[in-house]
Amino acid sequence: MQKPAQPMPANVRELMIRHLPARSHIVLEAAGRLADEMGVPVFVVGGIVRDLLLGVSTFDLDLVVEGNGIDFARAFARDTGGQVSVHDRFGTATVTLEEGPRIDIATARKESYAQPAALPLVVPASIQDDLLRRDFTINALAVRLNAQRFGEMVDACNGQGDLAAQRIRILHSRSFLDDPTRIFRAIRFEQRLGFRMDRPTLACLRDAIATGVIGHLSAHRLSEELKRMFAERHPGRAIARMGELGVLRTIHPKLAWSEKLEGMLKRVGHAVAWHERSLPKHKLEVWLLYVMALLEGLPPKPVADILKRLALSKQEAEAIRAGHAHARTVLRRLAKRPAPKPSDVYRALAGFPRETVVFLLASAKSESVKRLIQAYATTYRQVKPSLTGASLKSLGLKPGPQFKKILGRLLDARLNGDVNSDMEERELARKLARV
Ligand code: ATP
Repeated sequence: MQKPAQPMPANVRELMIRHLPARSHIVLEAAGRLADEMGVPVFVVGGIVRDLLLGVSTFDLDLVVEGNGIDFARAFARDTGGQVSVHDRFGTATVTLEEGPRIDIATARKESYAQPAALPLVVPASIQDDLLRRDFTINALAVRLNAQRFGEMVDACNGQGDLAAQRIRILHSRSFLDDPTRIFRAIRFEQRLGFRMDRPTLACLRDAIATGVIGHLSAHRLSEELKRMFAERHPGRAIARMGELGVLRTIHPKLAWSEKLEGMLKRVGHAVAWHERSLPKHKLEVWLLYVMALLEGLPPKPVADILKRLALSKQEAEAIRAGHAHARTVLRRLAKRPAPKPSDVYRALAGFPRETVVFLLASAKSESVKRLIQAYATTYRQVKPSLTGASLKSLGLKPGPQFKKILGRLLDARLNGDVNSDMEERELARKLARV
Protein backbone atom coordinates (compact mmCIF):
# COMPACT_ATOMS: atom_id res chain seq x y z
CA MET A 1 0.00 0.00 0.00
CA GLN A 2 1.16 3.49 -0.80
CA LYS A 3 2.12 5.55 2.22
CA PRO A 4 -0.10 8.49 3.06
CA ALA A 5 1.57 11.80 2.28
CA GLN A 6 0.48 13.38 5.56
CA PRO A 7 -0.16 12.00 9.03
CA MET A 8 -3.81 11.18 9.49
CA PRO A 9 -5.49 13.38 12.07
CA ALA A 10 -7.45 11.59 14.80
CA ASN A 11 -9.23 14.84 15.57
CA VAL A 12 -10.18 17.38 12.94
CA ARG A 13 -11.51 20.17 15.18
CA GLU A 14 -8.85 22.56 13.85
CA LEU A 15 -9.54 21.68 10.21
CA MET A 16 -13.24 22.28 10.81
CA ILE A 17 -12.56 25.75 12.14
CA ARG A 18 -10.31 26.51 9.17
CA HIS A 19 -12.32 25.07 6.29
CA LEU A 20 -16.00 25.12 7.21
CA PRO A 21 -18.03 28.29 6.73
CA ALA A 22 -18.54 29.87 10.19
CA ARG A 23 -22.29 29.29 9.97
CA SER A 24 -21.84 25.56 9.34
CA HIS A 25 -19.46 25.32 12.26
CA ILE A 26 -21.97 26.93 14.61
CA VAL A 27 -24.66 24.55 13.35
CA LEU A 28 -22.45 21.52 13.98
CA GLU A 29 -21.65 22.65 17.53
CA ALA A 30 -25.37 23.17 18.18
CA ALA A 31 -26.06 19.64 16.88
CA GLY A 32 -23.40 18.30 19.26
CA ARG A 33 -24.96 20.05 22.26
CA LEU A 34 -28.43 18.78 21.41
CA ALA A 35 -27.06 15.26 20.97
CA ASP A 36 -25.61 15.46 24.49
CA GLU A 37 -28.95 16.57 25.89
CA MET A 38 -30.72 13.72 24.10
CA GLY A 39 -28.01 11.25 25.09
CA VAL A 40 -27.27 10.10 21.52
CA PRO A 41 -24.03 10.07 19.52
CA VAL A 42 -24.21 12.30 16.43
CA PHE A 43 -21.81 12.59 13.48
CA VAL A 44 -21.22 14.61 10.36
CA VAL A 45 -20.56 12.09 7.58
CA GLY A 46 -19.63 11.28 4.02
CA GLY A 47 -18.53 13.68 1.30
CA ILE A 48 -18.35 16.64 3.69
CA VAL A 49 -15.66 14.93 5.75
CA ARG A 50 -13.81 13.93 2.56
CA ASP A 51 -13.88 17.52 1.34
CA LEU A 52 -12.88 18.82 4.76
CA LEU A 53 -9.76 16.64 4.73
CA LEU A 54 -9.00 17.81 1.20
CA GLY A 55 -9.34 21.43 2.31
CA VAL A 56 -12.42 21.99 0.13
CA SER A 57 -15.10 24.11 1.73
CA THR A 58 -18.64 22.70 1.59
CA PHE A 59 -21.92 24.19 2.63
CA ASP A 60 -24.66 21.59 3.10
CA LEU A 61 -24.33 19.04 5.87
CA ASP A 62 -25.15 15.32 6.31
CA LEU A 63 -25.63 14.19 9.89
CA VAL A 64 -26.09 10.66 11.21
CA VAL A 65 -27.56 9.91 14.62
CA GLU A 66 -27.00 6.66 16.48
CA GLY A 67 -30.60 6.68 17.61
CA ASN A 68 -33.76 8.14 16.15
CA GLY A 69 -32.68 10.58 13.44
CA ILE A 70 -36.18 11.91 12.87
CA ASP A 71 -36.75 12.76 16.56
CA PHE A 72 -33.36 14.42 16.56
CA ALA A 73 -34.18 16.44 13.42
CA ARG A 74 -37.47 17.65 14.92
CA ALA A 75 -35.75 18.75 18.15
CA PHE A 76 -32.94 20.36 16.17
CA ALA A 77 -35.37 22.36 14.05
CA ARG A 78 -37.17 23.48 17.25
CA ASP A 79 -33.86 24.58 18.82
CA THR A 80 -32.59 26.44 15.78
CA GLY A 81 -35.86 27.87 14.43
CA GLY A 82 -35.43 25.85 11.21
CA GLN A 83 -37.98 24.10 9.00
CA VAL A 84 -38.06 20.33 9.13
CA SER A 85 -39.34 18.00 6.44
CA VAL A 86 -39.47 14.31 7.24
CA HIS A 87 -39.04 11.52 4.69
CA ASP A 88 -40.58 8.67 6.71
CA ARG A 89 -39.96 6.02 4.08
CA PHE A 90 -36.20 6.52 4.27
CA GLY A 91 -35.96 7.37 8.00
CA THR A 92 -34.38 10.71 7.10
CA ALA A 93 -35.26 14.37 7.56
CA THR A 94 -34.04 17.68 6.22
CA VAL A 95 -33.70 20.79 8.34
CA THR A 96 -33.51 24.07 6.47
CA LEU A 97 -32.26 27.16 8.24
CA GLU A 98 -32.73 30.70 7.10
CA GLU A 99 -29.48 31.75 5.42
CA GLY A 100 -27.84 28.60 6.70
CA PRO A 101 -26.84 25.23 5.34
CA ARG A 102 -29.32 22.53 4.42
CA ILE A 103 -28.92 19.72 6.92
CA ASP A 104 -29.87 16.15 6.04
CA ILE A 105 -30.26 14.02 9.13
CA ALA A 106 -30.49 10.21 9.12
CA THR A 107 -30.65 7.35 11.56
CA ALA A 108 -27.44 5.29 11.48
CA ARG A 109 -28.42 2.21 9.47
CA LYS A 110 -27.35 -1.05 7.94
CA GLU A 111 -28.39 -2.07 4.46
CA SER A 112 -28.77 -5.34 2.64
CA TYR A 113 -29.57 -5.90 -1.01
CA ALA A 114 -32.19 -8.53 -1.89
CA GLN A 115 -31.26 -8.31 -5.59
CA PRO A 116 -28.52 -6.55 -7.54
CA ALA A 117 -29.41 -2.95 -8.49
CA ALA A 118 -32.57 -3.01 -6.33
CA LEU A 119 -33.14 -0.56 -3.49
CA PRO A 120 -31.73 -1.89 -0.19
CA LEU A 121 -33.49 -3.20 2.93
CA VAL A 122 -32.63 -0.99 5.87
CA VAL A 123 -32.32 -1.52 9.69
CA PRO A 124 -31.01 0.86 12.42
CA ALA A 125 -27.39 0.23 13.41
CA SER A 126 -24.11 1.76 14.68
CA ILE A 127 -22.08 4.49 12.96
CA GLN A 128 -19.52 1.83 11.97
CA ASP A 129 -22.24 -0.15 10.18
CA ASP A 130 -23.53 3.02 8.61
CA LEU A 131 -20.11 3.75 7.18
CA LEU A 132 -19.72 0.18 5.92
CA ARG A 133 -22.77 0.55 3.63
CA ARG A 134 -21.18 3.45 1.77
CA ASP A 135 -19.72 3.57 -1.71
CA PHE A 136 -15.98 4.26 -1.32
CA THR A 137 -13.54 4.40 1.58
CA ILE A 138 -12.98 8.13 1.04
CA ASN A 139 -16.72 8.66 1.59
CA ALA A 140 -16.91 6.27 4.56
CA LEU A 141 -15.69 8.85 7.04
CA ALA A 142 -17.45 10.51 9.96
CA VAL A 143 -16.64 13.12 12.58
CA ARG A 144 -18.23 13.06 16.01
CA LEU A 145 -20.01 16.20 17.15
CA ASN A 146 -20.88 15.54 20.84
CA ALA A 147 -19.20 18.32 22.85
CA GLN A 148 -16.66 16.22 24.76
CA ARG A 149 -15.55 14.40 21.62
CA PHE A 150 -16.13 17.12 19.01
CA GLY A 151 -13.92 16.59 15.95
CA GLU A 152 -13.10 12.92 16.63
CA MET A 153 -12.62 11.02 13.35
CA VAL A 154 -14.36 7.72 12.64
CA ASP A 155 -12.56 6.09 9.73
CA ALA A 156 -14.08 2.68 9.11
CA CYS A 157 -11.86 1.53 6.23
CA ASN A 158 -8.74 3.69 6.05
CA GLY A 159 -10.44 6.35 3.98
CA GLN A 160 -7.84 8.85 5.14
CA GLY A 161 -5.06 6.62 3.79
CA ASP A 162 -6.87 6.38 0.45
CA LEU A 163 -7.39 10.13 0.35
CA ALA A 164 -3.69 10.67 0.84
CA ALA A 165 -2.91 8.05 -1.81
CA GLN A 166 -5.52 9.59 -4.15
CA ARG A 167 -7.30 6.28 -4.46
CA ILE A 168 -10.94 5.33 -5.05
CA ARG A 169 -11.60 2.02 -3.33
CA ILE A 170 -14.84 0.10 -2.78
CA LEU A 171 -15.58 -1.45 0.59
CA HIS A 172 -16.38 -4.98 -0.60
CA SER A 173 -16.25 -6.88 -3.86
CA ARG A 174 -20.04 -6.94 -4.49
CA SER A 175 -20.34 -3.19 -4.15
CA PHE A 176 -20.87 -2.35 -7.84
CA LEU A 177 -23.30 -5.25 -8.25
CA ASP A 178 -25.34 -4.15 -5.24
CA ASP A 179 -25.55 -0.63 -6.58
CA PRO A 180 -24.38 0.06 -10.13
CA THR A 181 -24.82 3.81 -9.66
CA ARG A 182 -21.47 3.46 -7.89
CA ILE A 183 -19.88 2.73 -11.29
CA PHE A 184 -20.81 6.24 -12.37
CA ARG A 185 -19.89 7.72 -9.00
CA ALA A 186 -16.43 6.10 -9.11
CA ILE A 187 -15.77 7.60 -12.54
CA ARG A 188 -17.12 10.98 -11.44
CA PHE A 189 -14.93 11.13 -8.32
CA GLU A 190 -11.88 9.96 -10.27
CA GLN A 191 -12.22 12.88 -12.63
CA ARG A 192 -13.28 15.47 -10.10
CA LEU A 193 -10.55 14.71 -7.59
CA GLY A 194 -7.90 13.55 -10.05
CA PHE A 195 -7.85 10.19 -8.20
CA ARG A 196 -7.67 6.66 -9.61
CA MET A 197 -9.53 3.47 -8.72
CA ASP A 198 -7.17 0.89 -7.23
CA ARG A 199 -6.64 -2.35 -9.13
CA PRO A 200 -9.12 -4.59 -7.23
CA THR A 201 -11.80 -1.88 -7.47
CA LEU A 202 -11.22 -1.55 -11.20
CA ALA A 203 -11.40 -5.33 -11.62
CA CYS A 204 -14.73 -5.44 -9.73
CA LEU A 205 -16.02 -2.59 -11.83
CA ARG A 206 -15.14 -4.37 -15.07
CA ASP A 207 -16.70 -7.62 -13.79
CA ALA A 208 -19.85 -5.80 -12.77
CA ILE A 209 -20.13 -4.13 -16.18
CA ALA A 210 -19.65 -7.50 -17.88
CA THR A 211 -22.65 -8.94 -15.98
CA GLY A 212 -24.88 -6.31 -17.60
CA VAL A 213 -25.93 -4.92 -14.22
CA ILE A 214 -26.14 -1.37 -15.59
CA GLY A 215 -29.06 -2.61 -17.67
CA HIS A 216 -31.00 -3.23 -14.42
CA LEU A 217 -30.72 0.40 -13.35
CA SER A 218 -33.97 2.29 -13.59
CA ALA A 219 -34.09 5.10 -16.16
CA HIS A 220 -34.44 7.62 -13.37
CA ARG A 221 -31.36 6.46 -11.45
CA LEU A 222 -29.28 6.21 -14.62
CA SER A 223 -30.17 9.68 -15.83
CA GLU A 224 -29.66 11.19 -12.37
CA GLU A 225 -26.11 9.79 -12.33
CA LEU A 226 -25.39 11.06 -15.83
CA LYS A 227 -26.77 14.49 -14.93
CA ARG A 228 -24.48 14.67 -11.92
CA MET A 229 -21.52 13.50 -13.96
CA PHE A 230 -22.19 15.98 -16.76
CA ALA A 231 -22.63 18.83 -14.30
CA GLU A 232 -19.01 18.45 -13.13
CA ARG A 233 -16.17 20.65 -14.34
CA HIS A 234 -14.74 18.16 -16.84
CA PRO A 235 -17.53 15.95 -18.18
CA GLY A 236 -15.48 15.18 -21.29
CA ARG A 237 -12.91 13.30 -19.21
CA ALA A 238 -15.61 11.28 -17.48
CA ILE A 239 -17.16 10.41 -20.84
CA ALA A 240 -13.74 9.32 -22.13
CA ARG A 241 -13.34 7.10 -19.08
CA MET A 242 -16.83 5.65 -19.61
CA GLY A 243 -15.82 4.85 -23.17
CA GLU A 244 -12.56 3.23 -22.08
CA LEU A 245 -14.29 1.08 -19.45
CA GLY A 246 -17.12 0.00 -21.76
CA VAL A 247 -19.82 1.86 -19.81
CA LEU A 248 -21.05 3.84 -22.81
CA ARG A 249 -22.03 0.80 -24.79
CA THR A 250 -23.99 -0.62 -21.86
CA ILE A 251 -26.20 2.46 -22.09
CA HIS A 252 -26.64 1.80 -25.81
CA PRO A 253 -24.55 -0.35 -28.18
CA LYS A 254 -24.22 2.57 -30.59
CA LEU A 255 -22.57 4.81 -28.00
CA ALA A 256 -18.79 4.73 -28.25
CA TRP A 257 -15.76 6.89 -27.70
CA SER A 258 -14.24 8.32 -30.87
CA GLU A 259 -11.97 11.15 -31.94
CA LYS A 260 -14.99 12.86 -33.41
CA LEU A 261 -16.77 12.71 -30.07
CA GLU A 262 -13.65 13.97 -28.33
CA GLY A 263 -13.59 17.02 -30.62
CA MET A 264 -17.29 17.64 -30.11
CA LEU A 265 -16.94 17.46 -26.33
CA LYS A 266 -14.12 19.98 -26.41
CA ARG A 267 -16.16 22.35 -28.53
CA VAL A 268 -19.14 21.95 -26.19
CA GLY A 269 -16.82 22.81 -23.28
CA HIS A 270 -15.69 26.00 -25.06
CA ALA A 271 -19.23 27.00 -26.01
CA VAL A 272 -20.43 26.51 -22.42
CA ALA A 273 -17.48 28.54 -21.08
CA TRP A 274 -18.30 31.30 -23.58
CA HIS A 275 -21.94 31.30 -22.44
CA GLU A 276 -20.96 31.44 -18.75
CA ARG A 277 -18.68 34.42 -19.43
CA SER A 278 -21.06 36.30 -21.69
CA LEU A 279 -24.44 35.53 -20.14
CA PRO A 280 -23.72 34.75 -16.49
CA LYS A 281 -27.32 35.41 -15.44
CA HIS A 282 -28.76 32.81 -17.79
CA LYS A 283 -28.15 29.39 -16.32
CA LEU A 284 -27.83 26.52 -18.77
CA GLU A 285 -28.73 22.89 -18.19
CA VAL A 286 -25.16 22.07 -19.13
CA TRP A 287 -25.63 18.32 -18.81
CA LEU A 288 -28.13 18.43 -21.69
CA LEU A 289 -25.40 19.70 -24.00
CA TYR A 290 -23.24 16.71 -23.16
CA VAL A 291 -26.11 14.36 -23.94
CA MET A 292 -26.48 16.19 -27.27
CA ALA A 293 -22.76 15.71 -27.93
CA LEU A 294 -23.01 11.99 -27.18
CA LEU A 295 -25.93 11.57 -29.56
CA GLU A 296 -24.50 13.68 -32.35
CA GLY A 297 -24.24 11.83 -35.63
CA LEU A 298 -26.41 8.88 -34.49
CA PRO A 299 -29.40 7.90 -36.63
CA PRO A 300 -32.89 8.79 -35.30
CA LYS A 301 -33.71 5.27 -34.03
CA PRO A 302 -30.81 4.94 -31.52
CA VAL A 303 -31.37 8.58 -30.51
CA ALA A 304 -35.01 7.78 -29.73
CA ASP A 305 -33.98 4.60 -27.87
CA ILE A 306 -31.42 6.44 -25.76
CA LEU A 307 -33.83 9.25 -24.93
CA LYS A 308 -36.29 6.59 -23.82
CA ARG A 309 -33.64 4.77 -21.77
CA LEU A 310 -32.87 8.03 -19.95
CA ALA A 311 -36.58 8.90 -19.49
CA LEU A 312 -35.92 12.59 -19.95
CA SER A 313 -38.74 15.08 -19.59
CA LYS A 314 -40.59 16.12 -22.73
CA GLN A 315 -38.88 19.49 -22.66
CA GLU A 316 -35.38 18.01 -22.25
CA ALA A 317 -35.94 15.50 -25.04
CA GLU A 318 -37.28 18.30 -27.24
CA ALA A 319 -34.16 20.43 -26.73
CA ILE A 320 -32.01 17.44 -27.71
CA ARG A 321 -34.13 16.50 -30.71
CA ALA A 322 -34.20 20.09 -31.95
CA GLY A 323 -30.40 20.24 -31.93
CA HIS A 324 -30.30 17.00 -33.87
CA ALA A 325 -32.99 17.56 -36.37
CA HIS A 326 -32.05 21.11 -37.33
CA ALA A 327 -28.33 21.55 -36.73
CA ARG A 328 -27.30 20.96 -40.33
CA THR A 329 -29.95 23.13 -42.00
CA VAL A 330 -29.56 25.99 -39.53
CA LEU A 331 -25.77 26.03 -39.83
CA ARG A 332 -26.03 25.95 -43.62
CA ARG A 333 -28.46 28.87 -43.56
CA LEU A 334 -26.10 30.89 -41.40
CA ALA A 335 -23.10 30.10 -43.61
CA LYS A 336 -24.79 31.53 -46.75
CA ARG A 337 -23.11 34.32 -48.74
CA PRO A 338 -23.74 37.23 -48.66
CA ALA A 339 -23.80 37.02 -44.88
CA PRO A 340 -27.32 36.79 -43.46
CA LYS A 341 -28.81 39.91 -41.92
CA PRO A 342 -29.56 40.00 -38.18
CA SER A 343 -33.23 39.36 -38.95
CA ASP A 344 -32.30 36.21 -40.91
CA VAL A 345 -30.15 35.02 -38.02
CA TYR A 346 -33.04 35.67 -35.67
CA ARG A 347 -35.46 33.70 -37.87
CA ALA A 348 -33.02 30.81 -38.11
CA LEU A 349 -32.54 30.50 -34.34
CA ALA A 350 -35.70 31.88 -32.70
CA GLY A 351 -37.72 29.35 -30.74
CA PHE A 352 -34.85 26.97 -29.98
CA PRO A 353 -34.14 26.36 -26.29
CA ARG A 354 -31.02 28.12 -25.02
CA GLU A 355 -29.17 24.77 -24.73
CA THR A 356 -29.87 23.99 -28.38
CA VAL A 357 -28.47 27.37 -29.45
CA VAL A 358 -25.29 26.77 -27.45
CA PHE A 359 -25.03 23.30 -28.99
CA LEU A 360 -25.31 24.87 -32.46
CA LEU A 361 -22.52 27.24 -31.45
CA ALA A 362 -20.41 24.22 -30.50
CA SER A 363 -21.24 22.51 -33.80
CA ALA A 364 -20.39 25.52 -35.97
CA LYS A 365 -17.00 25.22 -37.64
CA SER A 366 -16.70 28.64 -39.26
CA GLU A 367 -15.81 31.67 -37.17
CA SER A 368 -18.33 33.87 -38.96
CA VAL A 369 -21.20 31.48 -38.20
CA LYS A 370 -20.06 31.29 -34.59
CA ARG A 371 -20.15 35.07 -34.35
CA LEU A 372 -23.70 35.16 -35.73
CA ILE A 373 -24.89 32.62 -33.16
CA GLN A 374 -23.15 34.55 -30.38
CA ALA A 375 -24.75 37.79 -31.54
CA TYR A 376 -28.13 36.06 -31.48
CA ALA A 377 -27.60 34.73 -27.93
CA THR A 378 -26.32 37.99 -26.47
CA THR A 379 -28.29 40.56 -28.46
CA TYR A 380 -30.82 39.63 -31.13
CA ARG A 381 -32.70 37.21 -28.89
CA GLN A 382 -33.65 40.09 -26.57
CA VAL A 383 -34.72 42.54 -29.31
CA LYS A 384 -38.41 43.45 -29.51
CA PRO A 385 -40.23 46.18 -31.41
CA SER A 386 -41.50 48.83 -29.02
CA LEU A 387 -44.92 48.92 -30.66
CA THR A 388 -47.46 46.28 -29.66
CA GLY A 389 -50.81 45.25 -31.07
CA ALA A 390 -52.42 47.84 -28.79
CA SER A 391 -50.17 50.61 -30.08
CA LEU A 392 -51.04 49.68 -33.67
CA LYS A 393 -54.72 50.00 -32.75
CA SER A 394 -54.14 53.41 -31.26
CA LEU A 395 -52.53 54.44 -34.54
CA GLY A 396 -55.94 53.78 -36.06
CA LEU A 397 -54.94 50.53 -37.77
CA LYS A 398 -57.55 47.81 -37.98
CA PRO A 399 -56.79 44.64 -35.98
CA GLY A 400 -56.46 41.51 -38.11
CA PRO A 401 -53.96 39.02 -39.48
CA GLN A 402 -51.90 41.87 -40.91
CA PHE A 403 -51.03 42.96 -37.32
CA LYS A 404 -48.83 39.90 -36.93
CA LYS A 405 -47.18 40.63 -40.26
CA ILE A 406 -46.56 44.28 -39.35
CA LEU A 407 -45.12 43.37 -35.94
CA GLY A 408 -42.85 40.84 -37.64
CA ARG A 409 -41.64 43.44 -40.10
CA LEU A 410 -41.06 45.92 -37.26
CA LEU A 411 -38.98 43.35 -35.44
CA ASP A 412 -36.90 42.74 -38.58
CA ALA A 413 -36.42 46.48 -39.03
CA ARG A 414 -35.32 46.87 -35.40
CA LEU A 415 -32.89 43.94 -35.69
CA ASN A 416 -31.40 45.27 -38.91
CA GLY A 417 -31.13 48.82 -37.58
CA ASP A 418 -33.58 50.11 -40.23
CA VAL A 419 -35.59 51.79 -37.46
CA ASN A 420 -34.07 53.08 -34.27
CA SER A 421 -36.84 54.91 -32.43
CA ASP A 422 -40.53 54.61 -31.58
CA MET A 423 -41.26 57.36 -34.05
CA GLU A 424 -39.54 55.56 -36.90
CA GLU A 425 -41.39 52.39 -35.95
CA ARG A 426 -44.70 54.22 -36.05
CA GLU A 427 -43.92 55.65 -39.48
CA LEU A 428 -42.95 52.25 -40.79
CA ALA A 429 -46.11 50.69 -39.31
CA ARG A 430 -48.30 53.25 -41.10
CA LYS A 431 -46.43 52.68 -44.34
CA LEU A 432 -46.81 48.92 -44.03
CA ALA A 433 -50.53 49.23 -43.28
CA ARG A 434 -51.04 51.23 -46.47
CA VAL A 435 -49.37 48.65 -48.69
P1 ATP B 1 -20.88 15.45 -3.89
O1 ATP B 1 -19.76 16.32 -3.51
O2 ATP B 1 -20.94 15.09 -5.34
O3 ATP B 1 -22.21 15.85 -3.32
P2 ATP B 1 -21.01 13.38 -1.92
O4 ATP B 1 -20.03 12.30 -1.56
O5 ATP B 1 -21.35 14.35 -0.84
O6 ATP B 1 -20.46 14.08 -3.21
P3 ATP B 1 -23.75 12.52 -2.11
O7 ATP B 1 -24.38 11.88 -3.30
O8 ATP B 1 -24.31 13.76 -1.57
O9 ATP B 1 -22.25 12.66 -2.52
O10 ATP B 1 -23.73 11.43 -0.99
C1 ATP B 1 -23.38 11.69 0.35
C2 ATP B 1 -22.74 10.45 0.93
O11 ATP B 1 -23.67 9.35 0.90
C3 ATP B 1 -21.51 9.98 0.17
O12 ATP B 1 -20.36 10.65 0.56
C4 ATP B 1 -21.49 8.51 0.52
O13 ATP B 1 -20.96 8.30 1.81
C5 ATP B 1 -22.97 8.16 0.58
N1 ATP B 1 -23.48 7.64 -0.70
C6 ATP B 1 -24.03 8.38 -1.70
N2 ATP B 1 -24.40 7.58 -2.73
C7 ATP B 1 -24.08 6.33 -2.38
C8 ATP B 1 -24.21 5.05 -2.99
N3 ATP B 1 -24.73 4.93 -4.21
N4 ATP B 1 -23.78 3.98 -2.31
C9 ATP B 1 -23.27 4.10 -1.07
N5 ATP B 1 -23.09 5.24 -0.44
C10 ATP B 1 -23.49 6.37 -1.07
